[in-house]
Amino acid sequence: MKKLALHWKIIIGMVLGIIFGFIMNSVSGQQFVTDWIAPFGTIFINLLKLIAVPLILASLIKGISDLKDISKIRDMGLRTIAIYVGTTLVAIIIGLSIVNLVKPGTGMPQDTIEKIKIKYENDAGVTDKLAKASAQQDAGPLQALVDIFPSNIFQAMGEAKMLQIIFFALFVGICLLLIGEKKAKPMIDIFDSLNEVVMKMVDLIMLFAPYAVFALMANVIIAFDDTEILLKLLQYALCVVGGLLLMIGFYLILIKVFVKKSPMWFLNKISPAQLLAFSTSSSAATLPVTMERVEEHLGVDKEVSGFVLPVGATVNMDGTSLYQGIAAVFIMQVIWPDGLTFTNQLIIVLTALLASIGSAAVPSAGMVMLVIVLESIGFPAELLPIGLALIFAVDRPLDMCRTVVNVTGDATVSMMVAKSLNKLHDDPRPKEWDDHYEEVK
Ligand code: ASP
Repeated sequence: MKKLALHWKIIIGMVLGIIFGFIMNSVSGQQFVTDWIAPFGTIFINLLKLIAVPLILASLIKGISDLKDISKIRDMGLRTIAIYVGTTLVAIIIGLSIVNLVKPGTGMPQDTIEKIKIKYENDAGVTDKLAKASAQQDAGPLQALVDIFPSNIFQAMGEAKMLQIIFFALFVGICLLLIGEKKAKPMIDIFDSLNEVVMKMVDLIMLFAPYAVFALMANVIIAFDDTEILLKLLQYALCVVGGLLLMIGFYLILIKVFVKKSPMWFLNKISPAQLLAFSTSSSAATLPVTMERVEEHLGVDKEVSGFVLPVGATVNMDGTSLYQGIAAVFIMQVIWPDGLTFTNQLIIVLTALLASIGSAAVPSAGMVMLVIVLESIGFPAELLPIGLALIFAVDRPLDMCRTVVNVTGDATVSMMVAKSLNKLHDDPRPKEWDDHYEEVK
């Protein structure tokens, strides 16, 4: 398998995992997959999460201190946020246009709605999302701002609070600039070295990726139990997937026009991160791989990727907001057609933008925030469980697809910001896990 490119190895692992999952479904071997296969996927995700926090800290502190100029940090920050907001707005508009044109929810037969309602309305997955959404809403209006400032960095690291860690790293980086080069050097060297170590860990963990995606995909397949309902929701699902594909097309145009690079080259280099996003449904778990691909394969300077990617994994979720726009209107088309006004759709644009910023980069987070989007337009509370039940059956596959778009969006924006700051290298040299193996074996 040595000569095969990494993305092919991962694709083979995925396809075999899917086939294996279907075989296990047909011989009632679901329990076997849960007990003996799925844990390997969990180990892989744990390892990625394990290195995400040290990676963000090290690369951001090193990156900021390398910028050598506080005004450059402000420039980079403003550009990043502006482009992130811009791409998210495009995503929501694409989503709303498609769902209004295709109208996947209009005319859904009453007996299908009843069937879905009976099956999923009281499902633990649905009630859990509603409970999480109401916990999020009980907080005051400025809670999101307060939440950026940690009172204990170890607790923030332990709970993987990304924005708190980013704030701390920025704070340390700026103070390193302010104490002068001589005093800052020892600490910068430590973070530089830590960054190298964590990147090497990414290389090693990725050796395990093809096997891990096998386990992850097999585990996803055994969870699909009702193909009849899946088919009924096909039109809705295709609207989301179509919108997500258009969004990928939009990124490729940005890469061609603004970054002046070949879209195919970009896709080829970023594909391992996309495949992992698909398999794990979590942009946070994929972050270390996204960073490795963007820095070592796409040539974005650490100073830029160290800031743009962790921030993006947390606040930029174009796939999620596109999905929220489509899902909200689809649910209205099915059970609350009176709500389908132009004003409500404008409110959806705004709330889906904020919701994607507030969504955690973990599986299914987009569905929790969808509840908040729906509530913002006065969606009747008693219909909420039915609304979520309607889209629940296809949420996991759509989550996998929207996570790919979330990760691709972050990578695209990091290239745009790097290009605009002259921090994009033409000839990146990827490091391999065994570059120094001969010296130490
Ligand atoms: N799973 C998505 C992510 O991690 C979030 C969501 O849309 O549910 O990027």
